[in-house]
Amino acid sequence: MQTTRFNLEQQEIPTHWYNVVADLPNPPSPPLGPDGNVVSPEQMLAIFPGPILEQEMSAERWIPIPEEVREIYRLWRPSPLIRALRLEQALGTPAKIYYKNEGVSPAGSHKPNTAVPQAFYNHQVGIRRLTTETGAGQWGSSMAFAGQMFGIDVRVFMVKVSYEQKPFRRSMMQTWGAEVLSSPTTLTKAGRDILAKHPDSEGSLGIAISEAVEEAAGRPDTNYCLGSVLNHVLLHQTIIGLEAKKQFEKAGDWPDVIFGPCGGGSSFGGIALPFLADKAAGKTPNLRLVAVEPTSCPTLTKGAYAYDYGDASGYTPIMKMYTLGHDFMPPGIHAGGLRYHGDSPLISQLVHEGLMEAIAVPQVATFEAGVLFAKAEGIIPAPESCHAIRAAIDEAVRCKATGEPKAILFNLTGHGHFDMASYDRYLSGKLEDFDYPAEAIQESLAHLPKV
Ligand SMILES: *Cc1c(COP(=O)(O)O)cnc(C)c1O
Repeated sequence: MQTTRFNLEQQEIPTHWYNVVADLPNPPSPPLGPDGNVVSPEQMLAIFPGPILEQEMSAERWIPIPEEVREIYRLWRPSPLIRALRLEQALGTPAKIYYKNEGVSPAGSHKPNTAVPQAFYNHQVGIRRLTTETGAGQWGSSMAFAGQMFGIDVRVFMVKVSYEQKPFRRSMMQTWGAEVLSSPTTLTKAGRDILAKHPDSEGSLGIAISEAVEEAAGRPDTNYCLGSVLNHVLLHQTIIGLEAKKQFEKAGDWPDVIFGPCGGGSSFGGIALPFLADKAAGKTPNLRLVAVEPTSCPTLTKGAYAYDYGDASGYTPIMKMYTLGHDFMPPGIHAGGLRYHGDSPLISQLVHEGLMEAIAVPQVATFEAGVLFAKAEGIIPAPESCHAIRAAIDEAVRCKATGEPKAILFNLTGHGHFDMASYDRYLSGKLEDFDYPAEAIQESLAHLPKV
């Protein structure tokens, strides 16, 4: 019997995260404040703990993972690397398809990889309350779980449309002791301003971020946590790629191409950046690292590489990144985790400099790929993950035409057990593709901050 599961022992959970900033060909552009000056650490300390800020600005290549964090990681880590042999057979491809299954975490996605250290560092500096936002509910559940691990109260601003459509994600957060509010709320100025203009607002991730940041900035006992985009989030997620490298060594193989879904870029960075280190050092020059996004929210493929706000109201510093404009309202697609106007500055820079690539895929084709995967491999993937699966399948089909036995790795960022309403729409033929909203993007890009 052929081996298809490459396991590591708990003792093999990495002891350090990998910081790609140490290996970038060019230094990253710093975040800027409203005055156009580089944001000072003091300004950021209002919402983030010192150790997180240090990581955010660090250029050290290896950053130690605290033992307390590794002890919680071992609840589900190391996560399995699986060879999708049955999918290969179903496709009749000579390619070898591997996936890293991040759906085995308590919250069902990669997001606890950073939620746990974020809660830990806040606990370490004496913070007893955290605010955050959640779109599809994945990040809110991860933060609720992580807060519970360290006895921290968590308040989650949940985008209204998801709050109503995903009641069980809400119950999950409440089970772990978090408080969940439907955003926009009347508790914050950001929420009240939006409701004054749009009383029926369905909310957006940008608005929910504004609410959570506003509350954290206004209360000394409260800090804020973000589930993607920022350097420290990508840093924590590199545990995925670091484990995968050890697992590929055991498998006696190495990926030729890596696909990951890309919303804010944290899971894609997490799986790809540890491999990028070797590519940048010239060891694996032909390795391709490909971010996969929805055609309806095509940040890396159709956005501008410019300074923009991270939220809708302009509370956050401005960051140099690919953006569709901070007031761009992505269509209500079913991969809620990919509906973000911007992208990680690190991933943006690497795409801009040609070390990483990006492609976009339409919604219906992603569900088609997810169902094919579920039928072959059993696991029902999150709609976000289906983007990477689509790309991996397309690559494997190309290999069939050329006869190349490429090794393809994709990030299975989460399971889809809370997304069955979306599968339902696909299965009953009601799911639609959204056209790339060129006019909406042009309109929104006209409001980029002037730097
Ligand atoms: C949040 C989420 C994503 C997208 O976020 P990134 O920061 O780009 O990784 C992808 N997949 C799942 C399952 C998610 O929950």
